[in-house]
Amino acid sequence: MYAILIGAPGAGKGTQALILQTTHGFFHLASGDLLRAAVRQQTPLGRLAKEYMERGVLVPDDVVIELLFERLSQTEQARGVIFDGFPRTLEQARALEGALGAQGQKIDRVIYLDVPSEILMERLTKRYQCSDPACGAIYNWGGNQPRQEGLCDRCGSGLYQRMDDNAVTVGRRLEAYFQQTLPLIRHFEATGQLCRIDGNQPIDHVTEQIVATLTPPRRTKGR
Ligand code: AMP
Repeated sequence: MYAILIGAPGAGKGTQALILQTTHGFFHLASGDLLRAAVRQQTPLGRLAKEYMERGVLVPDDVVIELLFERLSQTEQARGVIFDGFPRTLEQARALEGALGAQGQKIDRVIYLDVPSEILMERLTKRYQCSDPACGAIYNWGGNQPRQEGLCDRCGSGLYQRMDDNAVTVGRRLEAYFQQTLPLIRHFEATGQLCRIDGNQPIDHVTEQIVATLTPPRRTKGR
């Protein structure tokens, strides 16, 4: 199964995708994580992407598509793949549909985490992340705090604040979302693929609703 988690920065895509990976056997594929890894490793692609990410604007489609498809080709499908933060533009969506279609596959679900914009800024500027990329757990001073200040509950590594989680860059990221990703959400709505979930609820409620969307209803035996 191929499912897309779509929504604004701060809507909870990463948090939910991590839970779905850990407890429900999905493979979590986050374009932002792939880009940050490329930046850390200082690959040519990472050097190119860094400048865009620091400004809070989208990295060019061809760069993200190349990086994501390379990783997708190495993905061992467990129960399925959850795309987090990709696609973010119509062009990325078309590229993904084309690549999956070439393998006789398709996008099975598009789950939209809907969160009011006034809450997003608050969430992002209070967000902290585990410094171990293999863990990547996300915390929030606004409610989802770690048990021990500054340390990850899952792996004990230190927490850090992402360089693009400051008010100015968050403002630009939200602008990019409204201009470039909202049209894509409307596109999926028009094609009838979109499933909207209220992302402004406790984390476990949101997870329950996503899992219900991903799990096909059990057939009752007919007579
Ligand atoms: P994220 O971790 O999803 O919030 O992404 C962090 C930054 O990486 C974004 O602000 C963009 O600069 C870049 N980025 C991540 N995913 C994409 C994408 N699908 N298309 C273009 N840029 C992306």
